[in-house]
Amino acid sequence: MSITKNLEYIKNSLPQHVTLVAVSKTKPVENLQEAYNAGQRIFGENKIQEMAEKFEVLPKDISWHMIGHVQSNKVKYMAEFVDLIHGCDSFKLLKEINKQAKKHDRIINCLLQLKIAKEDTKFGMSPKEASTLLNSEEFSSLKNICVTGVMGMATFTENQNQVKEEFETLKSTFDNLKSITLDNCTIKTISMGMSGDYKLAIDCGSTMVRVGSSIFGSRTYNS
Ligand SMILES: *Cc1c(COP(=O)(O)O)cnc(C)c1O
Repeated sequence: MSITKNLEYIKNSLPQHVTLVAVSKTKPVENLQEAYNAGQRIFGENKIQEMAEKFEVLPKDISWHMIGHVQSNKVKYMAEFVDLIHGCDSFKLLKEINKQAKKHDRIINCLLQLKIAKEDTKFGMSPKEASTLLNSEEFSSLKNICVTGVMGMATFTENQNQVKEEFETLKSTFDNLKSITLDNCTIKTISMGMSGDYKLAIDCGSTMVRVGSSIFGSRTYNS
């Protein structure tokens, strides 16, 4: 199957209100160009340096999403061009994103990453931490970011009931946070679902899916 065919299949299976992020990490720019030629404009990467290198050479109307864990000291390398940062899990990180966005006179959109998986290896905040953060005075002073929603990753398991429960947890957190509206916070996006579980995620209320291997084929190394 070609990238173009895979994309076509996936796009046709998504309801209109669901945004597709094509996860292109580890893949060469030729693969991204093929997806671009097929109409895809949103790409997700999990390493800042790799994303910056691809940004340099690919068309400038691409929307770049950082989907991986972000270290504060690396934010400066993407602040000029990143459109949405999915993995925000601390005030410290949001503060740094705000600082770097300000230098470029931009507002950077951010999703709060919630920990929904039972495994301890996944990053993310609890629902309580997220609402405390958004309601804090320090947060309201961050004028160069906008929190536009939440993101989560389910446990890597065959157990669909468990995955479903985890997605439902994220949906209910989303519903609770939606009532918070500030100049720098409008909760409208739920980023959940990957190649193996995006259909289930959509059934549970996802509005943004991050699909990699079903578009570009399996990756030779896992990251
Ligand atoms: C790699 C990755 C994806 C895509 O995974 P696939 O199973 O290849 O679709 C989605 N989200 C995050 C955070 C990832 O790191």
